[in-house]
Amino acid sequence: MSEYTITVIKNENPKPKPASDQLKFGKHFTDHMFTQEYSEEKGWHNPKIVPYQPIVLDPAAMIFHYGQTVFEGLKAYRTKDGNIQLFRPNKNMERLNLSNDRLCIPAIDEEFAINAIKHLVHIDSDWVPDAEGTSLYIRPFIIATEPYLGVNPSSTYQFIVILSPVGAYYESGINPVKIAVENEFVRAVKGGTGEAKTAGNYASSLKAQEIVSKEGYAQVLWLDGLEKKYIEEVGSMNVFFKINGEIITPELNGSILNGVTRNSVIELLNYWGLKVTERRITMEELYESYQNGELEEAFGSGTAAVISPIGELAWNDKKLFINDGRTGEISKRLYDTLTGIQFGTVKDPFGWTV
Ligand code: PMP
Repeated sequence: MSEYTITVIKNENPKPKPASDQLKFGKHFTDHMFTQEYSEEKGWHNPKIVPYQPIVLDPAAMIFHYGQTVFEGLKAYRTKDGNIQLFRPNKNMERLNLSNDRLCIPAIDEEFAINAIKHLVHIDSDWVPDAEGTSLYIRPFIIATEPYLGVNPSSTYQFIVILSPVGAYYESGINPVKIAVENEFVRAVKGGTGEAKTAGNYASSLKAQEIVSKEGYAQVLWLDGLEKKYIEEVGSMNVFFKINGEIITPELNGSILNGVTRNSVIELLNYWGLKVTERRITMEELYESYQNGELEEAFGSGTAAVISPIGELAWNDKKLFINDGRTGEISKRLYDTLTGIQFGTVKDPFGWTV
């Protein structure tokens, strides 16, 4: 399906748009959505942009029972001159197909999907907010729709893209968060689905998240699923540490999500001539570097926050106060540059924006 034909049915009853300063994450949805179906006979077919509406599924649809589903998350940004740009959508579609492969879901045509997203955003372009730091969150996802209670891959699927205007992640400038290292629960194991963006990974993370948020922590830091020794990633972010001048991030090992922001951070740091090492790192080593006064910065990276400095890390009964709870120099520079590229105020030397 490289030929681009898409049926468009316009929404005749557009909704009132929320005020830019009232936007919450993932609460408001635009007037249209993209849908496409898959069957074994026809492959991916019937691409449509239709009014945003509920979907009707058989109660036996396999998504409800065995969670055969994948999703993505990216954003559209409004630039100062009123244009709208996407940030590395090819990376998200590439990752969607990796997730598809892991979940036995048929691959999508990545180029077609990017065009469909562009088309949908264009139709709902009035929904791309223009207040500082706001953007339009794009959520592509695929669900198994065959009504059948057997545990095997569905023979039919639906690919949907919905859009949600979102507020600035930081209301009063980039701000360090408190993170708790998770010692009881695990998110992913080698050979599991950690590298895929699939619902089950997030459902199984809720318990740990619920516990730490009662204690005032924003998210958990997951350790490896086997020994709970090696640092993996934060709830919805990859993680970086600056130790004695060197920037270190856990290497991709099959159980960590390959973040688009993570990749962009590494490329940007390399471009600046800074040393980045992707390797295994234990919590013990991190704590030791903290005690030696060598842990200079810690931050998370992800589409939602872009860069989230970590001001406090709780590990068992130990607390690591990083950079006196202030935003580090590298975190700030990365945040300013990445958001600058995304919103078009900083030159994009990589061709990341489209
Ligand atoms: N890890 C997890 C588990 C995530 O859900 C996300 C958000 N997609 C990330 C890392 C960051 O990935 P990205 O930079 O692509 O948003």
